[in-house]
Amino acid sequence: MADQQQPIYILPESAMRTRGRDAQRNNIAAAKIVAETVRTTLGPKGMDKMLVDSFGGVTITNDGVTILEEMQIEHPAAKMLVEVARTQENEVGDGTTTAVVLAGELLKKAEDLIDKEVHPTVIAKGYRIAADKAQVILYNMSEKITINDDTTLRNIAMTAMTGKAAESAKEKLAELSIRAIKKIIDIEDHQLKIDLENIKLEKSVGASIEDSELIEGIILDKEKVHPSMPRLIKNAKVALIDCALELKNTEIEAKISITSPEQMQSFLNKEEEILKRIADKIYASGANVVFCQKGIDDLVQHYLAKYGIYAARRIKQSDMEKLSRATKARIITNLEDLSGKDLGAAGIVEEVKINDEEMTFVKECRNPKAVTMLIKGGTQHVVDETERAIKDALGDISAALKLGRVVAGAGSTETEVARNLRKFANTLSGREQLAVLAFAEALEIIPRTLAENSGIDPIDLLTALKQKHDEGKKWAGIDVFTGRIADSWKLGVIEPLKIKTQAIKSATEVAIMILRIDDIIASKETKPQMPYQGEM
Ligand code: ADP
Ligand code: MG
Repeated sequence: MADQQQPIYILPESAMRTRGRDAQRNNIAAAKIVAETVRTTLGPKGMDKMLVDSFGGVTITNDGVTILEEMQIEHPAAKMLVEVARTQENEVGDGTTTAVVLAGELLKKAEDLIDKEVHPTVIAKGYRIAADKAQVILYNMSEKITINDDTTLRNIAMTAMTGKAAESAKEKLAELSIRAIKKIIDIEDHQLKIDLENIKLEKSVGASIEDSELIEGIILDKEKVHPSMPRLIKNAKVALIDCALELKNTEIEAKISITSPEQMQSFLNKEEEILKRIADKIYASGANVVFCQKGIDDLVQHYLAKYGIYAARRIKQSDMEKLSRATKARIITNLEDLSGKDLGAAGIVEEVKINDEEMTFVKECRNPKAVTMLIKGGTQHVVDETERAIKDALGDISAALKLGRVVAGAGSTETEVARNLRKFANTLSGREQLAVLAFAEALEIIPRTLAENSGIDPIDLLTALKQKHDEGKKWAGIDVFTGRIADSWKLGVIEPLKIKTQAIKSATEVAIMILRIDDIIASKETKPQMPYQGEM
């Protein structure tokens, strides 16, 4: 008989399965908690988080991606939100909190719609339509920027750093960041190419942030290999060599039978001669500085020192490439090829002690295509957080220049996009319209949070803000320092268009992905537990 059939098991007994609404609620709840956690850090008045790792190490930051990565989140849906932050970090370098907060809010609004019996597939479709439309609205409202708009570039850099540890010296750091980027820009096929890899960030604890500087060259965490080499070389002629300055594996390869002391001696003499020839070859090229990617034999070191040549070894490949961009030296793979025209130039090569460690400064390069920002600060925490702020500034300047487009921040852009989306929603019908309206409302989480984090009651302010936008003031935003509505552009709160387009894109993608899940099947070890639900 049919109802006496054996039940069929397709999953191991230990597997956990959550389905339908329960699955959706569980995932949305987890994502909301993640968003809620970073939300208090948004904007210049946002708070910091203190993160303590399992070894007791402390990080103090308000950088979205740093917080989420240190939290070691386990819930699978929450992890997807961390991915949003990571994508934003990789694509722009700033706006991580914005992206995560937005994703959380999109899901929260979706939950309201699910409660009203709107099917998640419909919500997903509406969100996608809204996100696409938002991209168009954003582009149309954005302004042009070029490499010569120094004031705007400064505002972009300062906006990225406002409210961070770097704040106290943001003018100086903004100027350094802009100078650094201008140095490393390449133009290929009439396109700006900016590779931030070519700006090396080095940190030094001790002085104040204000003492940070831009080195027109590269700082290497390497000392000179021999004590009697000169500490300082002026008008350096730099050889970059990526083969070992040693005898080639005599120990393993050559089988020599030595039968008399004379033979032994002549063998040693021969070795010594080969090694001396290596040093001679370098000296003959006219080099007075050698950076070697591999090892340098003791005897070669000795001869190089005798010639007054400064040498450092085991330089990282990435640093070799930067040295090549900074000094214009060609990296040599076979020592026999080395000649004067392969050498690069630097005004000064010097061994300097920083934080009790010997470093090599290669500076005063002419038109270097790779530079170093030496970040200083009173404590390790300050220096680390300043570095994160500078990365945001560099990312923002670079994103602004690459696309050549910027918008104003302080909640103005989100409010304007929401307003236009509402207008657009009127042209749609039924349930999709609801989803687009929900999307518009979700965007307003940004101005609302900026207000809340500054201790301003958001309700009246948001109403007034929307009214200004209805009057055609597209840059009306929140001056978090006075608590009033102001023209964000005039306040100098400028951000790259890319921050906004990317945040909306990745937040929407993850929200849709989470919405479409109606079944969670977890093997025992990874069962999705409800995360901690209180205040964080
Ligand atoms: P994120 O990780 O998203 O970059 P931030 O903490 O850097 O988070 O905050 C960015 C938000 O703060 C943006 O919406 C930006 O427009 C806003 N903001 C930055 N500076 C100001 C300012 N001076 N006044 C008002 N809002 C600002
Ligand atoms: Mg930021």
